[in-house]
Amino acid sequence: MNCQKVKTSLPDLLLAPKSVSAEVRAHVGSCAECAKELKGLEATMAMMEEWAAPDVSPYFDTRMAVLLREEQQAAPAGWLERMRERFLFGSHMHMRPLAAATLALIIAVGGGTYAGFGGFSNPQPAAQVASPVIKDLQSLDENAQVFQQLNSMDQQDTSDNGGGAGNSL
Ligand SMILES: [Zn+2]
Repeated sequence: MNCQKVKTSLPDLLLAPKSVSAEVRAHVGSCAECAKELKGLEATMAMMEEWAAPDVSPYFDTRMAVLLREEQQAAPAGWLERMRERFLFGSHMHMRPLAAATLALIIAVGGGTYAGFGGFSNPQPAAQVASPVIKDLQSLDENAQVFQQLNSMDQQDTSDNGGGAGNSL
């Protein structure tokens, strides 16, 4: 039995001694080099065992349990509650998807000139198309122009404020 062959069996000797032949065990018992190798391997494995199983914080389980309970209890209920508030009890929040869709239509029909997006000319004004939808869009467009005016007033206000602040500083 040569040492090289015995050394390949050394891990087995530590992990599953019964699987190693008596021949190998006898060799390790009588060969100083193989015995030394076995000792070194044993030390390494002991170190790895210590490293692989560090002590978990004593509060880990408690914290984990609390977090899980909070998630299970609070999250779904809170989420549903928020959604319900938003879509059922919100004063006019439910109008938002409709308004957004209408605005998208205005932009699409108006080619960007309505609602103040860009200053390029409109080859086919919406006014020439007779359709109740377009009429609705036109009234909405008027509203959009009002909003635009309000916006530009706001912008003037802020620029005035900014100028005043700049002068005072
Ligand atoms: Zn040996």
